[in-house]
Amino acid sequence: MKQGTTFTLEVNPKIPRKLIRLEELANNLWYSWDKPTRTLFARLHPGLWDAVAHNPKVFLRRVDEKRLLDAVEDQVFLATYNRVLSAFDTYHHEMVHHNGEAHLKEVDLVAYFCAEFGFHESFPIYSGGLGILAGDHCKAASDMYVPFVAVGLLYRQGYFTQTIDNDGNQIATHTDSDFADLPVAPALRDDGSEVHITVELPGRQVTVKVWQAIAGHVRLYLLDTDLEVNAPEDRDIAHQLYGGDRTMRLMQEIILGVGGVRALQELGLKPSVWHINEGHAAFLILERVRQLVTRQGLDFASALEAVAANTVFTTHTPVPAGHDHFTEKMITDYFQSFCLDLKISTADLMNLGLTPESPEFNMTALAIRGSRHQNGVSRIHGKVSSHICSTLWPDVLPEENPMSHVTNGVHVATFLAQEWADLFDNVFGYEWRHRLSDPGFWSRIDEIPDQLFWSVRQSLKAQMLQLVRFRKSAQHFRQHGSESHLDRVLKHVDSFDPNVLTIGFARRFATYKRAALLFENLTWLKEIISDTNRPVVFLFAGKAHPADQPGQDLIRQITSISHMPEFEGKVLMVEGYDLGLARRLVSGVDVWLNNPVYPLEASGTSGMKAGMNGAINLSVLDGWWGEGYDGTNGWAIKPAPTYMEDYRRNKEESQTLYEILQDRVLPAYYERGKMGYSPDWVKMSKRSMATILPRFNSARMVGEYVSKFYVPASHQGRRYEQENFAGAKLLSAWKNRIRSAWPDVSLRLLYNASKRIHFGDAVRFDVALKMKGLEADDVLVELLLRRPNKQDMSDYLHFTFSFQNMNAETGEHFFSLELSPDLCGRLDYKIRAYPSHELLTHPLEMGLMQWL
Ligand SMILES: *Cc1c(COP(=O)(O)O)cnc(C)c1O
Repeated sequence: MKQGTTFTLEVNPKIPRKLIRLEELANNLWYSWDKPTRTLFARLHPGLWDAVAHNPKVFLRRVDEKRLLDAVEDQVFLATYNRVLSAFDTYHHEMVHHNGEAHLKEVDLVAYFCAEFGFHESFPIYSGGLGILAGDHCKAASDMYVPFVAVGLLYRQGYFTQTIDNDGNQIATHTDSDFADLPVAPALRDDGSEVHITVELPGRQVTVKVWQAIAGHVRLYLLDTDLEVNAPEDRDIAHQLYGGDRTMRLMQEIILGVGGVRALQELGLKPSVWHINEGHAAFLILERVRQLVTRQGLDFASALEAVAANTVFTTHTPVPAGHDHFTEKMITDYFQSFCLDLKISTADLMNLGLTPESPEFNMTALAIRGSRHQNGVSRIHGKVSSHICSTLWPDVLPEENPMSHVTNGVHVATFLAQEWADLFDNVFGYEWRHRLSDPGFWSRIDEIPDQLFWSVRQSLKAQMLQLVRFRKSAQHFRQHGSESHLDRVLKHVDSFDPNVLTIGFARRFATYKRAALLFENLTWLKEIISDTNRPVVFLFAGKAHPADQPGQDLIRQITSISHMPEFEGKVLMVEGYDLGLARRLVSGVDVWLNNPVYPLEASGTSGMKAGMNGAINLSVLDGWWGEGYDGTNGWAIKPAPTYMEDYRRNKEESQTLYEILQDRVLPAYYERGKMGYSPDWVKMSKRSMATILPRFNSARMVGEYVSKFYVPASHQGRRYEQENFAGAKLLSAWKNRIRSAWPDVSLRLLYNASKRIHFGDAVRFDVALKMKGLEADDVLVELLLRRPNKQDMSDYLHFTFSFQNMNAETGEHFFSLELSPDLCGRLDYKIRAYPSHELLTHPLEMGLMQWL
């Protein structure tokens, strides 16, 4: 029988006048961290709220008119609505700086560029940790009232939907977002017109439309090329996050970096600090340089100095291969017009991205050459990055080069469960929200009675188990599983009995994260979890990149283990990992497991989310945990030496993991007192919260970026810009002079200083420098002194030589130093010279050094 076509028609409710501001709430990402706002929507129709995947905008378009009319009559609902609005208004009108003082000036504006942003599951323009970090950075900047805008791309396909079939195959479903469903609107000029800009690609101009999302005080500008004026292939540039081939990636990065700068300009914004969050956005440097050259008449080198002065670059990748790179041909094809404008050769342009390791153009190298403020994202990662990037400062030891670190943090309001926030309000008063980064304040966690603390944990765990049950059931029935089978699978996932030790592992399934390390020795694992009096359940979740076969193999492997009779119901693979599931898991599990290959976890953030909710971390001492672990707040797996073969490292580290599980975790959890919980467990859980919350939150992180980078960058930018960029020109001319002279500069000790002196006596050092035309104050001659048993560069004391005179015949400059050490015993010293200028941002930024 002929059925005909089914067309769809969406009937949108009329929002009653009394509830009209629901629309405003749905269009401000404030909802992504304000749980009461989300609860307000959910209360109108809980089923629909889940069905629309917690998307307030879609929810408001689909909710029944009747529900809205009922709500208008419901005094309780109205009271809640008004409470939410009043909190919303207070937040937006309270223009004060929180959790950090106001260091930035009124004229300052930080522009933060990133390829992905993760605010909430309803806004899928992220793929993992980097995006969520960027979202958290914006949220904290809003909370702290930092003058801040963010720039990214508006993908139709960001975070895919994941299902997992019975054999553990990941099925990635990419559905195009309808922008009408996202919390975005076209960015408008003052006259109400849409903001469109153009970016040239080889042989054509691509038009880019600028969209705007609002996150509290922060505006996020998102770029898209899906416009009729563009050629079909150009319309797809921003279609898929990290999709397509390398040329597609290059085009995306050009739109982001070059287009982003133009978009901000078109909007009339004048950032004083530019933050490149991971190399993808580094082309912004070239566009800014181009504008200084073409509009201000600067030469390329001076323009680069001016741009670099107020540019901050954060690297997130701990392996050189992870840094984005493009072939020379791609760069010359796509940057022809840039070279013409910049009046440089393509070889010069290529040099900006070259490293000694590869003939390709490396975005990290560009980002470093075009910035003077650089950091990795944890102490360990800062060190690793200074080694990886050390060739950019060739004569400088990695320990001393400018690459520093700011350890990541997560947004407390987003990831701390509402139940904890309510409890803190009761116990500490509202003030805790303004004391987020004060570790002393958080020792007050101990004021919460153990019993109460435990009951909140149990309640969060029950909610998490409920969600896992729901998801697993859907997964099971879709695969035509039986009811009785499901009972076996969910035996330990019971929200009415949250007393089974629950260990969570959820994150992207990249191979270095070793999701299957737990299964290295199945016999041992089976033994650990076979005691029926001390059951354990492991919950796994996470997505593998659709092109990452080994990552997907891990999902298959874990699924197949979860089907083995001895592991059924004890190992569960939960599909559809996203921010929503993440929030539940991190707040609900007892233990958060993380076992990456050291040192590949640049920072990791999920463990921070878990820790601040009182879950206890069991993790390899890598990334943030290298700083977070203090011996009392969780468990640490010490990494095996990196020179070991992979299989031996896996064996050693899994052995440690089994030992910790068997000797520490299980006994501690099941040492239940008469109150029904383990006092030692609660103690550790409290330690976890009290130590992790104040140190690994995004307010602390953004505060550090402000004081360490944003303020100095803004200062440096203005200094270089004054008087028609006199500073930038002066510095670039000086650097040029130094660079040509430096290879021939040489240093010699005039005579050997005494090898032995008495305490209190002075010892004199004299050196001579062949300067090759440089002046005495172009260099700094320095003596470094330390005890012989010390290892670190930071153990050296520094003493500066002073210029004495010059031998007109030989051109040698003499420098001397008189020193009376206030140390006794044997001391080591070194003498060196390096270029020095008061306009430099970092004393060693030129990467040049001569040692004696
Ligand atoms: C926090 C988070 C991540 C990052 O987790 P890591 O363990 O740091 O890799 C990835 N995805 C989601 C959805 C998250 O919430």
